[in-house]
Amino acid sequence: MTSSNEFSLRDLPLRPDLVGLEPYGAPQLHVPVQLNVNESAFDVPEPVVDAIVERIRPAARAANRYPDREFTELRERLANFVGHGVVPEQVWAANGSNEVLQHVLQAFGGPGRKLLSFSPTYSMYGLLAQGVGMEYVRVPRREDFTVDAELVSDAIEEHEPDIVILCGPNNPTGTGLGRDAVLAACASGAMVVVDEAYVEFSREYDATAIPLLESHPRLLISRTMSKAFAFAGVRLGYLIASPVVTNALRLVRLPYHLSALTQAAACAALEHAHLMLAQVDALRQQRDRLVVELRRRGFSPYPSDANFVLVGGIEHPEAVFDALLAEGIIVRNVGIESALRITAGTEAETTAVLEALQAIDRQ
Ligand SMILES: *Cc1c(COP(=O)(O)O)cnc(C)c1O
Repeated sequence: MTSSNEFSLRDLPLRPDLVGLEPYGAPQLHVPVQLNVNESAFDVPEPVVDAIVERIRPAARAANRYPDREFTELRERLANFVGHGVVPEQVWAANGSNEVLQHVLQAFGGPGRKLLSFSPTYSMYGLLAQGVGMEYVRVPRREDFTVDAELVSDAIEEHEPDIVILCGPNNPTGTGLGRDAVLAACASGAMVVVDEAYVEFSREYDATAIPLLESHPRLLISRTMSKAFAFAGVRLGYLIASPVVTNALRLVRLPYHLSALTQAAACAALEHAHLMLAQVDALRQQRDRLVVELRRRGFSPYPSDANFVLVGGIEHPEAVFDALLAEGIIVRNVGIESALRITAGTEAETTAVLEALQAIDRQ
């Protein structure tokens, strides 16, 4: 590290299209109340911790060997967990749904092809498109952040994308996704990814697009264990699609991409799925409480089907972000004017952020 201050990235032959780009980077600050990256506020339940440790032991002993490249047991457990008659051949998984989405873009996107999504939406889509050298087109959502069939059809007709990603419920706005919009995308012949990272928090029962899979072979549904399943640290995302699609993803994944330890931990947690999901209702309640209480306090929270709330009506989001941080509370500035995004936490955490916001407001 001696001469590091004389040597900069400018001296390296970085790929031209990466010059000047910023890496993904939500701040990782260890403050008491972390409401910035939509994790679950609740620790992994102790019986599940025990089950994981028990499964990790034999996996560690056998770690001189490569893991099961086909993650057979994990795919079976995921298919069983998802239900809806999904079979293991329809399931794909990787180290977080970010990697799942990367596999999809590597297999079906790439140079000369186009990805379409509806903004504001998940910022990783653009970075993933960049990574595989494909064009990324963002069409604005409606004023209330919804996406409807007409908007989708018009955007597809205008831009002729190869892949469409619909994020539902949408990050960072919390907006639910209607089936009509998904069907409009499917009608186009493009590969359609529905990112259901937050679907377990939907207000509408069974908001998933999974029932549409049977009649739409180009539909892919992306899910994650990072949010409702409260397992962000393990890095496990998965996808449900036609077996033909999951087979194609084998062309681009790295060999043995899911470590034996990851597979063991995820299988153990899936055996106790009811415990892993036990706090979803509590988090939904806190999400709804945030909306009601913030509205009562004169803010403009958007309706949310996720485990966070986008709060508008904040004149100086940077200043409010800093003021909350000074109180030991971290939220997220997602770059939307007059708005901050707040993850629903425990009841005490929600109380803390509501009280802090009220105090700031009165300054
Ligand atoms: C958090 C999130 C993901 C999940 O990322 P992982 O890599 O599975 O942790 C995917 N999509 C959206 C929209 C998200 O907000």
